[in-house]
Amino acid sequence: MRIVIALGGNAMTSKDGRARVEDQQVAIAEACEHVADLVAAGHDVLLTHGNGPQVGNLLLKNELAAAEVPPVPLDWCDASTQATIGVTVMDALDAALAVRGVDKRTATLVSRTLVDVDDPGFDNPTKPIGRHLSREDAQVLIDHGQRFVEVEGKGWRRVVASPEPRECLDAPAADRLLGDGFVVVCSGGGGIPTVRRADGTLAGVEAVIDKDLTAALIAAHVTADVLVIATDVEAAVTGYGTDHARPIGEVTAAEMRRIAAEQHFPAGSMGPKVEAVTRFAERAHRPGVITSLAHIADAVEGRAGTRVVPD
Ligand code: ADP
Ligand code: MG
Repeated sequence: MRIVIALGGNAMTSKDGRARVEDQQVAIAEACEHVADLVAAGHDVLLTHGNGPQVGNLLLKNELAAAEVPPVPLDWCDASTQATIGVTVMDALDAALAVRGVDKRTATLVSRTLVDVDDPGFDNPTKPIGRHLSREDAQVLIDHGQRFVEVEGKGWRRVVASPEPRECLDAPAADRLLGDGFVVVCSGGGGIPTVRRADGTLAGVEAVIDKDLTAALIAAHVTADVLVIATDVEAAVTGYGTDHARPIGEVTAAEMRRIAAEQHFPAGSMGPKVEAVTRFAERAHRPGVITSLAHIADAVEGRAGTRVVPD
């Protein structure tokens, strides 16, 4: 099978959310053990991943150094984290595959995701990123062109657009590499947000793209047989956080739309995962699964997780 796996934050930082270099290496090594099992079983795998904590660290460096070194744009931070996470995954997977005697190589693509220039998010950026700052510290960055909003009692926080991903521009390269037998790491952090200018040229933009929604796109582009959203819970549940929480097993896309309409899935966590697997089932007519890292092999076989199947 051709499998696309989206790794969540917990696969790249320690349990308490710390993102020191060694925390990331340890978490990624653990995630790669599970991925290597799938590769060893003969599957073709494309990995994508989040980058929230890593970009958060870079933004903090930008902020602390802004008076000395010009801050780099968010799309550059995405590119940097695709590279650092990619190389960490490559080292970990190479090691895990060698132990299993599997002769397969991993390749990471610095990859862009097209968004609409006129996405409503750009006029009204709502996605808060980075730390809360004092008015004075925020002003340095506002002078560099960044948008900030005041959060009552907490200070000033940067806001950026969260546009809808439209196209994985580097999907053809990912498809080729997969076809040539590489394990591919691609579209990390949802891909580098990119717009097409009126003259047809491409340019990076400062925005945050949801990695789960991009995962659904790239999975469709490479005609994956299944999309797996790997997170820190075994399944999505109804009644989350209540004493009548119930895991959702296999449902059709239409059934999942009905459940989602009942507000079980918050926008900042489970919402985009449910949206991603449902879109994949609707548009690519293949199953999408939400589960924990430890269950990805079972989930691929249809024995674990929340599985959304085409209607
Ligand atoms: P990741 O970092 O892996 O992308 P998130 O932390 O954004 O994932 O989202 C996963 C989290 O969503 C779970 O750890 C859980 O706490 C939370 N969550 C919210 N609503 C639900 C739900 N209905 N079912 C399961 N988990 C939920
Ligand atoms: Mg998380």
